[in-house]
Amino acid sequence: MATVELKAVSKIYGTTVRAVDSVDLSIANGEFIVLVGPSGCGKSTTLRMIAGLEDLSGGTISIGNRIVNDVPPKDRNIAMVFQNYALYPHLNVRQNLSFGLERRRTFKSRWRGIWDSTYRTQRHAERLAITARVDAAARTLGIEQLLHRPPRELSGGQRQRVAVGRALVRDPAVFLFDEPLSNLDALLRGEMRTELRILHRSLRATMVYVTHDQEEAMSLADRMVVMKDGVVQQIGSPAEIYDSPANRFVAGFIGTPPMNMFEGRLARDSTGGFTFHWKESVFSLCKRWVAGELSALGHDTITLGIRPDRLRILPAGENENSCCLTGHVVTIERYGPLADIVAVVNGMRVISRTSTDTLAAICEGDAITLEFQMQFAHMFRADGSAVTSPKN
Ligand code: ADP
Repeated sequence: MATVELKAVSKIYGTTVRAVDSVDLSIANGEFIVLVGPSGCGKSTTLRMIAGLEDLSGGTISIGNRIVNDVPPKDRNIAMVFQNYALYPHLNVRQNLSFGLERRRTFKSRWRGIWDSTYRTQRHAERLAITARVDAAARTLGIEQLLHRPPRELSGGQRQRVAVGRALVRDPAVFLFDEPLSNLDALLRGEMRTELRILHRSLRATMVYVTHDQEEAMSLADRMVVMKDGVVQQIGSPAEIYDSPANRFVAGFIGTPPMNMFEGRLARDSTGGFTFHWKESVFSLCKRWVAGELSALGHDTITLGIRPDRLRILPAGENENSCCLTGHVVTIERYGPLADIVAVVNGMRVISRTSTDTLAAICEGDAITLEFQMQFAHMFRADGSAVTSPKN
Protein backbone atom coordinates (compact mmCIF):
# COMPACT_ATOMS: atom_id res chain seq x y z
CA MET A 1 0.00 0.00 0.00
CA ALA A 2 1.16 3.52 -0.69
CA THR A 3 0.12 7.11 -1.11
CA VAL A 4 0.10 8.64 -4.59
CA GLU A 5 0.70 12.34 -5.09
CA LEU A 6 0.27 14.27 -8.33
CA LYS A 7 1.62 17.82 -8.35
CA ALA A 8 0.85 20.11 -11.31
CA VAL A 9 0.90 17.09 -13.63
CA SER A 10 0.44 17.97 -17.31
CA LYS A 11 0.57 16.10 -20.58
CA ILE A 12 0.76 17.82 -23.94
CA TYR A 13 0.69 15.68 -27.07
CA GLY A 14 2.51 17.32 -29.98
CA THR A 15 2.34 21.07 -29.54
CA THR A 16 -1.37 21.62 -29.18
CA VAL A 17 -3.26 18.76 -27.47
CA ARG A 18 -3.32 19.58 -23.75
CA ALA A 19 -4.62 16.19 -22.62
CA VAL A 20 -3.96 16.78 -18.89
CA ASP A 21 -3.65 20.28 -17.50
CA SER A 22 -1.90 20.86 -14.18
CA VAL A 23 -3.60 18.16 -12.11
CA ASP A 24 -3.05 18.19 -8.33
CA LEU A 25 -4.25 15.13 -6.46
CA SER A 26 -3.29 13.51 -3.15
CA ILE A 27 -4.38 9.90 -2.82
CA ALA A 28 -4.27 8.48 0.69
CA ASN A 29 -2.99 5.07 1.63
CA GLY A 30 -5.73 2.50 1.00
CA GLU A 31 -8.05 4.92 -0.74
CA PHE A 32 -10.29 4.01 -3.70
CA ILE A 33 -10.09 6.96 -6.11
CA VAL A 34 -12.13 7.07 -9.31
CA LEU A 35 -11.20 9.39 -12.18
CA VAL A 36 -14.40 10.10 -14.10
CA GLY A 37 -15.39 12.31 -17.00
CA PRO A 38 -16.56 12.20 -20.59
CA SER A 39 -14.49 10.56 -23.31
CA GLY A 40 -11.32 12.54 -24.08
CA CYS A 41 -11.18 14.38 -20.72
CA GLY A 42 -7.71 13.03 -19.92
CA LYS A 43 -8.48 10.37 -17.31
CA SER A 44 -6.67 7.47 -19.07
CA THR A 45 -3.66 9.67 -19.79
CA THR A 46 -3.51 10.56 -16.08
CA LEU A 47 -3.67 6.88 -15.11
CA ARG A 48 -1.05 5.94 -17.70
CA MET A 49 1.28 8.60 -16.32
CA ILE A 50 0.88 7.11 -12.82
CA ALA A 51 1.69 3.71 -14.35
CA GLY A 52 4.74 5.09 -16.12
CA LEU A 53 3.36 4.28 -19.58
CA GLU A 54 3.38 7.99 -20.58
CA ASP A 55 6.04 10.60 -19.87
CA LEU A 56 4.96 13.78 -18.11
CA SER A 57 5.15 17.13 -19.89
CA GLY A 58 5.24 18.86 -16.50
CA GLY A 59 4.86 18.26 -12.78
CA THR A 60 5.75 15.34 -10.54
CA ILE A 61 4.19 12.03 -9.52
CA SER A 62 5.18 10.37 -6.25
CA ILE A 63 4.28 6.86 -5.14
CA GLY A 64 4.93 6.22 -1.47
CA ASN A 65 6.89 9.49 -1.08
CA ARG A 66 9.28 8.61 -3.93
CA ILE A 67 9.17 10.75 -7.07
CA VAL A 68 8.73 8.27 -9.89
CA ASN A 69 8.86 10.51 -12.98
CA ASP A 70 11.93 8.66 -14.24
CA VAL A 71 11.20 5.24 -12.73
CA PRO A 72 10.23 2.59 -15.33
CA PRO A 73 6.78 0.95 -14.91
CA LYS A 74 8.18 -2.38 -13.71
CA ASP A 75 9.94 -0.68 -10.79
CA ARG A 76 6.95 1.38 -9.60
CA ASN A 77 5.34 -1.47 -7.65
CA ILE A 78 2.00 -0.97 -9.39
CA ALA A 79 -0.32 -3.43 -11.16
CA MET A 80 -2.68 -2.37 -13.89
CA VAL A 81 -5.93 -4.01 -15.03
CA PHE A 82 -6.97 -3.13 -18.56
CA GLN A 83 -10.34 -3.00 -20.30
CA ASN A 84 -9.35 -5.74 -22.78
CA TYR A 85 -8.08 -8.08 -19.98
CA ALA A 86 -4.76 -8.64 -21.87
CA LEU A 87 -4.62 -12.36 -20.98
CA TYR A 88 -2.18 -14.69 -22.76
CA PRO A 89 -4.40 -16.92 -24.95
CA HIS A 90 -1.94 -19.86 -25.03
CA LEU A 91 -1.61 -20.05 -21.22
CA ASN A 92 -4.19 -21.45 -18.83
CA VAL A 93 -5.56 -19.41 -15.93
CA ARG A 94 -2.94 -20.61 -13.43
CA GLN A 95 -0.14 -19.80 -15.87
CA ASN A 96 -1.69 -16.41 -16.63
CA LEU A 97 -1.83 -15.64 -12.92
CA SER A 98 1.72 -16.77 -12.22
CA PHE A 99 3.31 -15.39 -15.40
CA GLY A 100 4.48 -12.08 -13.93
CA LEU A 101 5.79 -13.78 -10.78
CA GLU A 102 7.66 -16.47 -12.75
CA ARG A 103 9.40 -13.78 -14.74
CA ARG A 104 10.59 -12.12 -11.56
CA ARG A 105 11.88 -15.35 -10.04
CA THR A 106 15.47 -15.19 -8.86
CA PHE A 107 16.19 -18.93 -9.05
CA LYS A 108 15.37 -19.80 -12.63
CA SER A 109 18.00 -22.12 -14.05
CA ARG A 110 17.04 -25.80 -14.15
CA TRP A 111 20.59 -26.88 -14.90
CA ARG A 112 22.19 -25.26 -11.94
CA GLY A 113 19.85 -27.25 -9.70
CA ILE A 114 21.48 -30.47 -10.94
CA TRP A 115 24.74 -29.80 -9.11
CA ASP A 116 23.75 -27.12 -6.58
CA SER A 117 21.39 -28.49 -3.95
CA THR A 118 21.03 -25.14 -2.08
CA TYR A 119 20.01 -23.52 -5.32
CA ARG A 120 17.54 -26.37 -5.93
CA THR A 121 15.97 -25.92 -2.48
CA GLN A 122 15.61 -22.17 -2.92
CA ARG A 123 14.13 -22.61 -6.38
CA HIS A 124 11.62 -25.08 -4.98
CA ALA A 125 10.67 -22.71 -2.14
CA GLU A 126 10.14 -19.90 -4.63
CA ARG A 127 7.87 -22.11 -6.75
CA LEU A 128 5.83 -23.11 -3.72
CA ALA A 129 5.44 -19.45 -2.74
CA ILE A 130 4.17 -18.58 -6.24
CA THR A 131 1.70 -21.49 -6.17
CA ALA A 132 0.45 -20.37 -2.75
CA ARG A 133 -0.04 -16.79 -3.96
CA VAL A 134 -1.90 -17.91 -7.07
CA ASP A 135 -4.12 -20.23 -5.01
CA ALA A 136 -4.89 -17.44 -2.53
CA ALA A 137 -5.79 -14.98 -5.31
CA ALA A 138 -7.95 -17.62 -7.03
CA ARG A 139 -9.74 -18.26 -3.73
CA THR A 140 -10.32 -14.55 -3.13
CA LEU A 141 -11.85 -14.16 -6.58
CA GLY A 142 -13.74 -17.46 -6.62
CA ILE A 143 -11.96 -18.85 -9.71
CA GLU A 144 -10.23 -21.91 -8.19
CA GLN A 145 -12.20 -24.28 -10.43
CA LEU A 146 -11.03 -22.41 -13.55
CA LEU A 147 -7.28 -22.62 -12.99
CA HIS A 148 -6.69 -25.26 -15.67
CA ARG A 149 -8.78 -23.56 -18.37
CA PRO A 150 -7.45 -21.42 -21.25
CA PRO A 151 -8.96 -17.90 -21.58
CA ARG A 152 -11.06 -18.90 -24.61
CA GLU A 153 -13.10 -21.21 -22.35
CA LEU A 154 -13.99 -18.39 -19.94
CA SER A 155 -16.91 -15.97 -19.94
CA GLY A 156 -16.29 -12.21 -20.01
CA GLY A 157 -16.80 -11.94 -16.26
CA GLN A 158 -14.43 -14.84 -15.55
CA ARG A 159 -11.76 -13.31 -17.78
CA GLN A 160 -12.12 -10.04 -15.94
CA ARG A 161 -11.66 -11.86 -12.64
CA VAL A 162 -8.46 -13.47 -13.96
CA ALA A 163 -7.21 -10.04 -15.06
CA VAL A 164 -7.86 -8.72 -11.53
CA GLY A 165 -6.23 -11.86 -10.10
CA ARG A 166 -3.09 -11.20 -12.10
CA ALA A 167 -2.81 -7.81 -10.42
CA LEU A 168 -3.66 -9.33 -7.03
CA VAL A 169 -0.87 -11.94 -7.00
CA ARG A 170 1.71 -9.23 -7.45
CA ASP A 171 0.65 -7.62 -4.18
CA PRO A 172 1.38 -4.15 -5.56
CA ALA A 173 1.53 -0.88 -3.65
CA VAL A 174 -1.09 0.59 -5.99
CA PHE A 175 -3.75 -1.01 -8.22
CA LEU A 176 -4.61 0.88 -11.41
CA PHE A 177 -7.81 0.06 -13.31
CA ASP A 178 -8.50 1.40 -16.81
CA GLU A 179 -12.25 0.98 -17.56
CA PRO A 180 -12.03 -2.69 -16.49
CA LEU A 181 -15.75 -3.42 -16.64
CA SER A 182 -16.79 -1.74 -19.87
CA ASN A 183 -16.76 -4.99 -21.90
CA LEU A 184 -19.24 -6.67 -19.58
CA ASP A 185 -23.01 -6.62 -19.80
CA ALA A 186 -24.95 -4.43 -17.37
CA LEU A 187 -25.86 -7.21 -14.92
CA LEU A 188 -22.33 -8.54 -14.67
CA ARG A 189 -20.94 -5.03 -14.38
CA GLY A 190 -23.10 -4.50 -11.33
CA GLU A 191 -21.88 -7.76 -9.77
CA MET A 192 -18.23 -7.00 -10.49
CA ARG A 193 -18.59 -3.54 -8.95
CA THR A 194 -19.79 -5.12 -5.73
CA GLU A 195 -16.92 -7.62 -5.83
CA LEU A 196 -14.35 -4.88 -6.41
CA ARG A 197 -15.71 -2.92 -3.46
CA ILE A 198 -15.53 -6.03 -1.25
CA LEU A 199 -12.02 -6.76 -2.53
CA HIS A 200 -10.95 -3.22 -1.75
CA ARG A 201 -12.38 -3.44 1.74
CA SER A 202 -10.57 -6.68 2.46
CA LEU A 203 -7.22 -5.56 0.98
CA ARG A 204 -7.40 -1.89 2.02
CA ALA A 205 -5.18 -1.33 -1.01
CA THR A 206 -4.68 1.98 -2.79
CA MET A 207 -6.73 1.82 -5.98
CA VAL A 208 -7.04 4.30 -8.84
CA TYR A 209 -9.85 3.52 -11.23
CA VAL A 210 -10.83 5.19 -14.51
CA THR A 211 -14.34 5.18 -15.94
CA HIS A 212 -16.58 7.36 -18.09
CA ASP A 213 -19.61 5.90 -16.30
CA GLN A 214 -20.64 8.23 -13.49
CA GLU A 215 -22.89 5.65 -11.85
CA GLU A 216 -19.96 3.23 -11.68
CA ALA A 217 -17.81 6.00 -10.21
CA MET A 218 -20.46 6.84 -7.60
CA SER A 219 -20.84 3.24 -6.54
CA LEU A 220 -17.11 2.46 -6.24
CA ALA A 221 -15.30 5.55 -5.08
CA ASP A 222 -14.19 6.72 -1.68
CA ARG A 223 -13.49 9.95 -3.56
CA MET A 224 -14.16 10.89 -7.16
CA VAL A 225 -12.11 13.17 -9.37
CA VAL A 226 -14.36 14.70 -12.04
CA MET A 227 -12.42 15.84 -15.10
CA LYS A 228 -13.22 17.82 -18.24
CA ASP A 229 -10.85 18.90 -21.02
CA GLY A 230 -7.83 17.75 -19.01
CA VAL A 231 -8.78 19.88 -16.01
CA VAL A 232 -9.99 18.63 -12.62
CA GLN A 233 -13.44 20.08 -11.97
CA GLN A 234 -14.06 18.72 -8.49
CA ILE A 235 -12.66 16.19 -6.03
CA GLY A 236 -14.87 14.78 -3.30
CA SER A 237 -16.88 11.87 -1.97
CA PRO A 238 -19.77 10.73 -4.18
CA ALA A 239 -22.22 12.33 -1.74
CA GLU A 240 -20.35 15.67 -1.70
CA ILE A 241 -20.21 15.78 -5.47
CA TYR A 242 -23.85 14.81 -5.90
CA ASP A 243 -25.16 17.18 -3.24
CA SER A 244 -22.81 20.12 -3.81
CA PRO A 245 -21.51 20.13 -7.38
CA ALA A 246 -18.81 22.77 -7.80
CA ASN A 247 -20.05 23.92 -11.19
CA ARG A 248 -22.66 23.46 -13.85
CA PHE A 249 -20.64 20.84 -15.72
CA VAL A 250 -20.32 18.58 -12.66
CA ALA A 251 -23.99 19.10 -11.82
CA GLY A 252 -25.04 18.04 -15.31
CA PHE A 253 -22.59 15.13 -15.59
CA ILE A 254 -23.27 13.45 -12.25
CA GLY A 255 -26.73 12.02 -11.62
CA THR A 256 -29.27 10.03 -13.61
CA PRO A 257 -31.47 11.35 -15.09
CA PRO A 258 -29.48 14.57 -15.43
CA MET A 259 -30.26 17.71 -13.46
CA ASN A 260 -32.89 20.03 -15.02
CA MET A 261 -31.28 23.37 -15.86
CA PHE A 262 -33.25 26.61 -16.15
CA GLU A 263 -31.37 29.59 -17.52
CA GLY A 264 -32.91 32.80 -16.22
CA ARG A 265 -32.40 36.05 -14.38
CA LEU A 266 -32.10 37.00 -10.76
CA ALA A 267 -34.03 39.96 -9.31
CA ARG A 268 -34.88 41.46 -5.93
CA ASP A 269 -38.49 41.41 -4.84
CA SER A 270 -40.33 44.09 -2.82
CA THR A 271 -39.56 42.34 0.50
CA GLY A 272 -35.80 42.36 -0.08
CA GLY A 273 -35.79 38.68 -1.02
CA PHE A 274 -34.75 37.28 -4.36
CA THR A 275 -36.77 36.02 -7.27
CA PHE A 276 -35.74 33.94 -10.21
CA HIS A 277 -37.28 34.73 -13.59
CA TRP A 278 -37.46 31.98 -16.16
CA LYS A 279 -39.44 32.75 -19.31
CA GLU A 280 -42.90 33.81 -18.02
CA SER A 281 -42.43 32.16 -14.62
CA VAL A 282 -41.23 33.91 -11.48
CA PHE A 283 -40.05 31.90 -8.45
CA SER A 284 -39.33 33.11 -4.95
CA LEU A 285 -35.95 31.82 -3.93
CA CYS A 286 -35.48 30.04 -0.67
CA LYS A 287 -34.56 32.42 2.18
CA ARG A 288 -31.58 30.30 3.00
CA TRP A 289 -29.71 31.16 -0.20
CA VAL A 290 -26.64 33.04 0.89
CA ALA A 291 -27.81 36.66 0.67
CA GLY A 292 -24.29 38.03 0.23
CA GLU A 293 -23.53 35.79 -2.69
CA LEU A 294 -26.86 36.54 -4.36
CA SER A 295 -26.50 40.31 -3.84
CA ALA A 296 -23.12 40.21 -5.53
CA LEU A 297 -24.74 38.61 -8.56
CA GLY A 298 -27.04 41.60 -9.21
CA HIS A 299 -29.33 41.00 -12.15
CA ASP A 300 -27.04 38.50 -13.78
CA THR A 301 -28.07 35.65 -15.96
CA ILE A 302 -27.95 32.57 -13.77
CA THR A 303 -28.88 28.93 -14.07
CA LEU A 304 -31.11 27.24 -11.55
CA GLY A 305 -30.60 23.47 -11.41
CA ILE A 306 -32.99 20.98 -9.86
CA ARG A 307 -32.60 17.23 -9.80
CA PRO A 308 -35.53 15.24 -11.22
CA ASP A 309 -36.35 13.72 -7.84
CA ARG A 310 -36.74 17.24 -6.40
CA LEU A 311 -39.44 18.24 -8.86
CA ARG A 312 -42.61 17.08 -7.16
CA ILE A 313 -45.76 16.30 -9.09
CA LEU A 314 -48.69 18.13 -7.52
CA PRO A 315 -52.21 16.79 -7.49
CA ALA A 316 -54.46 18.57 -9.99
CA GLY A 317 -55.55 22.02 -8.78
CA GLU A 318 -52.81 22.35 -6.15
CA ASN A 319 -50.63 24.99 -7.74
CA GLU A 320 -50.95 27.94 -5.42
CA ASN A 321 -47.28 27.74 -4.56
CA SER A 322 -44.97 30.26 -6.24
CA CYS A 323 -42.47 27.53 -7.13
CA CYS A 324 -44.67 25.66 -9.59
CA LEU A 325 -44.49 25.07 -13.30
CA THR A 326 -47.23 23.76 -15.51
CA GLY A 327 -46.76 21.81 -18.69
CA HIS A 328 -47.85 18.58 -20.33
CA VAL A 329 -46.52 15.05 -20.14
CA VAL A 330 -44.61 13.78 -23.20
CA THR A 331 -43.54 10.33 -22.00
CA ILE A 332 -43.55 8.24 -18.85
CA GLU A 333 -40.65 5.80 -18.39
CA ARG A 334 -41.22 3.26 -15.64
CA TYR A 335 -38.38 1.49 -13.79
CA GLY A 336 -40.06 -0.79 -11.28
CA PRO A 337 -40.96 1.38 -8.29
CA LEU A 338 -39.74 4.59 -9.97
CA ALA A 339 -40.85 6.47 -13.05
CA ASP A 340 -39.39 9.36 -15.02
CA ILE A 341 -41.98 11.77 -16.32
CA VAL A 342 -40.75 13.83 -19.24
CA ALA A 343 -42.86 16.98 -19.55
CA VAL A 344 -42.66 20.01 -21.79
CA VAL A 345 -42.80 23.26 -19.85
CA ASN A 346 -42.56 26.61 -21.65
CA GLY A 347 -41.15 24.78 -24.66
CA MET A 348 -38.40 23.03 -22.64
CA ARG A 349 -38.13 19.37 -21.66
CA VAL A 350 -38.15 18.81 -17.92
CA ILE A 351 -37.78 15.48 -16.14
CA SER A 352 -39.40 14.57 -12.86
CA ARG A 353 -38.55 11.30 -11.12
CA THR A 354 -41.24 9.97 -8.91
CA SER A 355 -42.49 6.85 -7.22
CA THR A 356 -44.91 4.89 -9.39
CA ASP A 357 -47.34 4.99 -6.45
CA THR A 358 -47.78 8.74 -6.92
CA LEU A 359 -48.23 8.45 -10.67
CA ALA A 360 -51.85 7.43 -10.16
CA ALA A 361 -53.85 8.45 -13.16
CA ILE A 362 -51.25 10.56 -14.99
CA CYS A 363 -51.07 9.70 -18.67
CA GLU A 364 -49.02 10.86 -21.61
CA GLY A 365 -50.51 14.09 -23.00
CA ASP A 366 -51.99 15.16 -19.62
CA ALA A 367 -51.47 18.62 -18.16
CA ILE A 368 -49.14 18.49 -15.16
CA THR A 369 -47.99 20.77 -12.34
CA LEU A 370 -44.45 20.41 -11.02
CA GLU A 371 -43.26 21.95 -7.78
CA PHE A 372 -39.63 22.96 -7.25
CA GLN A 373 -38.37 21.83 -3.86
CA MET A 374 -36.35 25.01 -3.78
CA GLN A 375 -34.29 24.09 -0.73
CA PHE A 376 -32.67 21.40 -2.90
CA ALA A 377 -32.05 23.64 -5.91
CA HIS A 378 -28.59 24.57 -7.16
CA MET A 379 -27.60 27.89 -8.67
CA PHE A 380 -24.79 28.56 -11.12
CA ARG A 381 -23.27 31.88 -12.18
CA ALA A 382 -22.84 32.79 -15.84
CA ASP A 383 -19.27 31.33 -15.73
CA GLY A 384 -20.72 28.01 -14.50
CA SER A 385 -19.42 28.18 -10.91
CA ALA A 386 -21.86 27.20 -8.17
CA VAL A 387 -23.43 29.57 -5.67
CA THR A 388 -23.58 27.94 -2.23
CA SER A 389 -26.66 25.78 -2.07
CA PRO A 390 -29.31 26.65 0.56
CA LYS A 391 -28.95 23.15 1.97
CA ASN A 392 -25.32 23.80 3.03
P1 ADP B 1 -10.10 9.71 -21.75
O1 ADP B 1 -9.39 8.57 -21.10
O2 ADP B 1 -10.67 10.65 -20.73
O3 ADP B 1 -11.11 9.29 -22.75
P2 ADP B 1 -7.53 10.30 -22.88
O4 ADP B 1 -6.69 10.50 -21.69
O5 ADP B 1 -7.41 8.99 -23.60
O6 ADP B 1 -9.04 10.60 -22.53
O7 ADP B 1 -7.22 11.45 -23.95
C1 ADP B 1 -7.20 12.82 -23.60
C2 ADP B 1 -6.93 13.63 -24.85
O8 ADP B 1 -5.63 13.34 -25.34
C3 ADP B 1 -7.90 13.36 -25.99
O9 ADP B 1 -8.14 14.58 -26.65
C4 ADP B 1 -7.12 12.41 -26.87
O10 ADP B 1 -7.53 12.55 -28.21
C5 ADP B 1 -5.70 12.89 -26.67
N1 ADP B 1 -4.72 11.82 -26.83
C6 ADP B 1 -4.65 10.69 -26.10
N2 ADP B 1 -3.59 9.92 -26.49
C7 ADP B 1 -2.99 10.60 -27.48
C8 ADP B 1 -1.83 10.36 -28.30
N3 ADP B 1 -1.10 9.25 -28.14
N4 ADP B 1 -1.50 11.28 -29.22
C9 ADP B 1 -2.23 12.42 -29.36
N5 ADP B 1 -3.32 12.72 -28.63
C10 ADP B 1 -3.70 11.83 -27.69
